[in-house]
Amino acid sequence: MSKLEIRDLQVSVKLPEGELKPILHGVTLTVESGQTHAIMGPNGSGKSTLAYSIAGHPKYEITGGSVHLDGQDVLAMSVDERARAGLFLAMQYPVEVPGVSVANFLRTAKTAIDGEAPKLRTWAGELKGSMEKLGMDPAFAQRNVNEGFSGGEKKRHEIVQLELLKPKIAILDETDSGLDVDALRVVSEGVNRVKDANDTGVLLITHYTRILRYIKPDFVHVFVAGRIAEEGGPELADKLEAEGYVSYTGAAAVGA
Ligand code: ADP
Ligand code: MG
Ligand code: MG
Repeated sequence: MSKLEIRDLQVSVKLPEGELKPILHGVTLTVESGQTHAIMGPNGSGKSTLAYSIAGHPKYEITGGSVHLDGQDVLAMSVDERARAGLFLAMQYPVEVPGVSVANFLRTAKTAIDGEAPKLRTWAGELKGSMEKLGMDPAFAQRNVNEGFSGGEKKRHEIVQLELLKPKIAILDETDSGLDVDALRVVSEGVNRVKDANDTGVLLITHYTRILRYIKPDFVHVFVAGRIAEEGGPELADKLEAEGYVSYTGAAAVGA
């Protein structure tokens, strides 16, 4: 059983002139193994800032609060240490990695996380199996990471990473964006499969409720202006689907 505990987290973004712009104003949230938490909120409410802060992105400065994974101080860890401790951020590697194939990238990541290289034969089979389940062409493994990937390929690649790296807690930031309905279903099934197999705790960040038809959240947190404005069970997602974020923001255009 793993537990990610975010306590009163306050975060500023570092502006190019060196100034700090406060974005998160005290976020408290606990994600345990096997739980799915949906974070929903209008654009600009700080959802990605939360994800990047937990992942250790250098653009964000933690000005208060704490993040612990199984009692270990996440904020004191390097980005690599966070991954080895069992944290996964889906947007961790959004950049192209010239000259590095998907197969090599995944094997290197797995080796770094486990502290030893995976056995070649079982590894090749796992990779092939994971890609097959996501309906991916085997040739995909030889392509360079994110080079010319379509939106759907990027998301599928994220799910392959999840399936092979087996993190304790996975943070999926807008995994649904840019997916058509078929791809959304395939990617969602992948997340559910990984969850069931590994008892992963999932923090699912999304602007739209549609992914929650496929990935059922246990808890829903509504994010507004860098704070959690309301929390509840899955029924809260239904309310958001019907009413949007207007009742929180007071402006009909927000989130459009
Ligand atoms: P969300 O993911 O909910 O859409 P973000 O976390 O991306 O929200 O952004 C939260 C707020 O932080 C927004 O107002 C955004 O403009 C601001 N922000 C994020 N990054 C920067 C940056 N590099 N410079 C200035 N403002 C930023
Ligand atoms: Mg956004
Ligand atoms: Mg975002």
